[in-house]
Amino acid sequence: MRKDELLIRVAVPSPLRRIFDYRFPQNSMDVRIIPGMRLRVSFGRRELIGVVLKVVRDSEIDVEKLKQITAVLDAEPLITGRVFRLLEWCSGYYHHPIGEVFSAALPTLLRQGGELLYKGQRCWLLSESGREVALDTLKRAVKQQGVLGLLQQHGVLSDRQLSDLLNGWQAPMRALRDKGFIYSEQRPEIPEVTSVTVPPLNAEQAVAVTAVEAGLADFHPFLLNGVTGSGKTEVYLSIAEKVLAKGRQVLVLVPEIGLTPQLVLRFQQRFAVPIALMHSGLNDQERLDSWILARDGRASLVIGTRSAVFAPMKQLGLIIIDEEHDGSFKQQEGFRYSARDVAVMRARLEKVPIVLGSATPSLETLFNAQEGRYRELLLTQRAGNAQPPKIAALDVRGQYMEHGLSNGLIALMRQHLKQSGQVLLFLNRRGYSPTLMCHDCGWSAECQRCDTHMVLHQYEQRLRCHHCGKEMRLVPRCPQCQGEQLRPIGHGTERIEEALQEKFPEYKVLRIDRDTTRRKGALQTMLEEIHDGKHQILLGTQMLSKGHHFPNVTLVGILDAEQGLYSADYRAIERMAQQILQVAGRAGRAERPGTVLIQTHHPDHPLLRELLEQGYGPFSQALLQERQQADMPPYSALALLRAEATDKHLPQAFLSEAYQLAAALGVPDVLLLGPIPSPMERRAGRYRAQLLIHAPQRGALHRLLTPWLLQLEANKLGRKVRWSLDVDPIEMY
Ligand code: ADP
Ligand code: ZN
Ligand code: ZN
Repeated sequence: MRKDELLIRVAVPSPLRRIFDYRFPQNSMDVRIIPGMRLRVSFGRRELIGVVLKVVRDSEIDVEKLKQITAVLDAEPLITGRVFRLLEWCSGYYHHPIGEVFSAALPTLLRQGGELLYKGQRCWLLSESGREVALDTLKRAVKQQGVLGLLQQHGVLSDRQLSDLLNGWQAPMRALRDKGFIYSEQRPEIPEVTSVTVPPLNAEQAVAVTAVEAGLADFHPFLLNGVTGSGKTEVYLSIAEKVLAKGRQVLVLVPEIGLTPQLVLRFQQRFAVPIALMHSGLNDQERLDSWILARDGRASLVIGTRSAVFAPMKQLGLIIIDEEHDGSFKQQEGFRYSARDVAVMRARLEKVPIVLGSATPSLETLFNAQEGRYRELLLTQRAGNAQPPKIAALDVRGQYMEHGLSNGLIALMRQHLKQSGQVLLFLNRRGYSPTLMCHDCGWSAECQRCDTHMVLHQYEQRLRCHHCGKEMRLVPRCPQCQGEQLRPIGHGTERIEEALQEKFPEYKVLRIDRDTTRRKGALQTMLEEIHDGKHQILLGTQMLSKGHHFPNVTLVGILDAEQGLYSADYRAIERMAQQILQVAGRAGRAERPGTVLIQTHHPDHPLLRELLEQGYGPFSQALLQERQQADMPPYSALALLRAEATDKHLPQAFLSEAYQLAAALGVPDVLLLGPIPSPMERRAGRYRAQLLIHAPQRGALHRLLTPWLLQLEANKLGRKVRWSLDVDPIEMY
């Protein structure tokens, strides 16, 4: 190795589990290379953006064969310190190629090699003379007077905020600028704090806040286990306030911002600080802006979905995860990670507390609390005067059902509607009916690319596959026998909506699902209309269950929640219970008490009874016992190796070889289950199969995975299929 040359170890986004070395002739470029900087490197026939992991001066290896790096993209490292270590940990824990992990942690523009450039929003500020000038002097320019008045009142206002406050502010603003009273700057918007009344915390809330406050100086994981409506958000706000007061930043992770605009709004109303939002509703530049604000420490609050867990933060002081049980924290493609679990590791590395909040905590988190790893903070009462809802099962066996609605439920709906309560019905199936069948010959609409039925969407006159997106126009005749008796089988939200409009013509029905909320802002408008009482009957999918506060809902009906009871997936029951309680939690959140009715054909199912009679606590204990007996997580560790290909036999052939290789490694205690075809074997034209790896402890699992994955990378069959590894899988298909 030449004296003036450095060897750079680079994380290159490639599916290979390796670090790649490049040469860097030091005097060819006048820059210093530091870990965390981006480089452009040639890789095969392509150029890729990689991240420096390490710079070494001496090497035993033959460096002449290595390529030189093409360009250094940054003057300073983008990924540093604890986030850097977090990503290294992720790569090891999830056995995912380090280059892809680093790449996933960067906003798209940076990943593509773009500049670290903050664009921000145009904001208007007062100059010194603008601050001092008396409004009276503008008596004859009323519009200018109005605009200046607004700025004197608010200090800083963005274009967007101005447009919300005033029409036609632009011309007077230009005039004021010409007079030197104001100027503009690209910077983060400061939310307008509305004077909200902050309720005094109740005793349980106060205990929770004090406990976290006492732990602010170090890593302390907390489970905030509070029933729906118990004031968890109020607890987050109070703790955040303390952290912000110390000049530190708060990271809040939420399942889906689009579905819970209320949470973001409550943070915005409470704190007059720049907030960096990170979610899929932003464009690439907005995401980059948020990332930069978080990194600089200019945004005191960072609120985001899953990937925000990797946001660099200069002064992180606290992490909050709302609805920690929610499945959307798990990334299901590519770099498969659990943002919740990564967040806990991040809090540990950053030496800050983390609060995991939920009314229905995951079994993993409950287990961690029981084992003493997390401290559990309980909120057992609903806040204010609200009472917990009464939940009952409605036995519909042998009952007359009209469009999936039992008479018992309909009667109760009438009663609540008459007393001017709102009714919320939950059915987690959109479309008109799950399939369409020919009464003459038995043909049913199947997807040609998946092992599943096409869902009938009546309004759009289409059949659509919910798994691959394939669509067909609805035709009036059976494609097989030309018969005209095509009939919808089963019920989706569209069909129930139709039935409700017929049954309750005097009330307004609102359907909320992905089909009715596709337009940007549509959900927000609907939520506002619900608050204003424009609709009396609300019908929706799980979108309706997430964190919403509907003070007038007094009755919740769950039309069909029992698919989970007999599912092949061992987590299905846990998910079902969480869904029932989350939906139920929308009832009776204000003065008026709530009732929840669950239509079921299995009123005697022991776990369902446990849930309804004893509540989530005892139910989850029973479920944990089952898991222990079955030796399933959290009492063991799992990983799932999946493979898919257009050829039916290849995935199983590859997994069989994988099985042999693993067996030959002879790691004690590890069990291999499979390979078997995935529950839905064909999806989007590809056949899928899986092999489950079970170990009593994580250590054994990792001892197998590390050497095994390198073998799989080198495997010939492995190049003919698409395969992936999922550590801690939450869905078994
Ligand atoms: P959660 O997040 O647990 O569902 P929220 O924080 O949204 O609960 O609180 C539910 C409702 O109760 C909100 O309207 C909130 O303003 C109110 N609330 C919360 N804490 C209190 C309190 N200590 N006193 C009175 N009302 C409260
Ligand atoms: Zn037919
Ligand atoms: Zn399909």
